[in-house]
Amino acid sequence: MENGQYVNTILERLGRRYGRDLTTGLIHHGMTELFVAVFLSPQCTDKQVNKVTPALFDRYRRFDDYAKADLRELNGYLSGLNYYKTKARNLKRSAAIITGRFGGRVPDTLGELMELPGVGRKVANVVLNVWYKRDEGIAVDTHCARVSRRLGLSRRADPHKIEADLMRKVPKDEWGKISNLFIALGRDVCKARARQCYGCVLNDICPSSNVRRR
Ligand code: SF4
Repeated sequence: MENGQYVNTILERLGRRYGRDLTTGLIHHGMTELFVAVFLSPQCTDKQVNKVTPALFDRYRRFDDYAKADLRELNGYLSGLNYYKTKARNLKRSAAIITGRFGGRVPDTLGELMELPGVGRKVANVVLNVWYKRDEGIAVDTHCARVSRRLGLSRRADPHKIEADLMRKVPKDEWGKISNLFIALGRDVCKARARQCYGCVLNDICPSSNVRRR
């Protein structure tokens, strides 16, 4: 199967299986909460983030509140997360920049987002895709990276290089969707340790499938 047809088949089948309107599993209401939840998500599961954010969002409502936050108090709210001290420090600094330079509104370009302390490509891509419905890149997390390699869409280990491979092979208007679909597949059947190819809708076309066909 040539690449375009292969990618379209993957998108079509995963869309049917997991829904084409998949979005982030991070619970949020509004732009500020989305940004903060995504900001806190690197090296953590959505479940870990969703556990700390209700109390956090109750205490801090606007970017200005985060900018003025007492760091020790903020640390306390985030202590259930990996690297929480670094995240607290960077969140406070980013919130000050969003308040001062962007008038309290999350910037809407990859370049501006990535200038914020603690914001990498993955966080910036998710914010752009979920909030602004724009795709300047593809958010590659651990699930998306694993699935991309197993499906033969990349051979790289570095998420940025995997992203570059996907951007070459996947149509631009599908960039946001493919990330969410690969995350769903990775959590459901294409797991890190025990992949469950028998339950996978791609098991007849995936080069890593362990389903034997006669
Ligand atoms: S067939 Fe197996 S290895 Fe391939 S994507 Fe599905 S679960 Fe992953």
